[in-house]
Amino acid sequence: METKPVILAVDDTELNTDILVELLRDRYEVITALDGERAIEIANKKHVDLILLDIMMPEMDGYDVCQHLKSNQKTKDIPIIFITAKTDETSIEKAYDIGGIDYVTKPFRPKELLARVQRELAMQKLIDELKKSQEELKLLAITDSMTKLYNRRYFSEISMELFALAKRENRPLSLIMLDIDKFKTINDTYGHKVGDEAIIALGNLLRKAKRKSDVACRLGGEEFVLLLPNTAYKDAKKVAEKIRKRVEKSKIPYDEGKTLSFTISLGVAEVDFEHEDQIEPALKRADDALYEAKKSGRNRVC
Ligand code: GH3
Ligand code: MG
Ligand code: MG
Repeated sequence: METKPVILAVDDTELNTDILVELLRDRYEVITALDGERAIEIANKKHVDLILLDIMMPEMDGYDVCQHLKSNQKTKDIPIIFITAKTDETSIEKAYDIGGIDYVTKPFRPKELLARVQRELAMQKLIDELKKSQEELKLLAITDSMTKLYNRRYFSEISMELFALAKRENRPLSLIMLDIDKFKTINDTYGHKVGDEAIIALGNLLRKAKRKSDVACRLGGEEFVLLLPNTAYKDAKKVAEKIRKRVEKSKIPYDEGKTLSFTISLGVAEVDFEHEDQIEPALKRADDALYEAKKSGRNRVC
């Protein structure tokens, strides 16, 4: 069932809000407020799609209410149509200047008001859809499509941000690089598709093993990196060891009834803020450690 859009009608004269309710209630859920304070309270507490706002009200006038709503993150995007007896140009200009989206003078023609309300709500719906698809696109651009972890591009961004944050707050920052052992053999033995399944399974395992604040990225191929804010080298090593064990124990199903197991090698490093002003040296150390792990026998943390 589609829910009705919610309209907040604000006017200090109850007769006026009554008229608005009468006009709008077939199509919309109408909430009323008889003063500015109450209007702001409702807009903050409830979901409101559109506000019809009187200007001349005792205490707080419509302009004040509008400015208040526009300066608040939570309410700034609610479209406001002013409905007022003021017809002079200066008043109208001010209403638009402070963020009103439309202006209707009293006495209004009911059908015209209804049409304007409909148009604004339709516009709002389009804007919402646009915002949503923009966000989806943004997420798509930073996501690795196979594992749904972040991709290398996002890693570059977030690693810089986490570096700056950790430095500012004087907290440790570690990273773990990891790579599947003898992955070529897995591909050669079981085929590329099963190889893909192994990568996906490792991605899921990392997602489950990591803390909420940790950031897991697939750098490419069967190589991943974990960024661990607030974590010193010693603890990062424990996390790496935990992940190594979990991977070693896990069985990835393929075909009917068959499972395959694999191991990973991991390299751990902590950022040395005293001597480093970017993430790259620590990344290089983690990569070197990973290489060391490979060289010294694989399935281990270095
Ligand atoms: P090592 O233990 O030294 O890491 O050996 P390895 O065989 O894993 O070494 P290497 O990193 O050279 O091989 C990685 C292979 O992974 C090569 C490439 O064909 C394969 N590969 C890269 N991306 C994918 C992918 O998305 N899916 C599959 N199935 N294979 C991939
Ligand atoms: Mg490998
Ligand atoms: Mg590799």
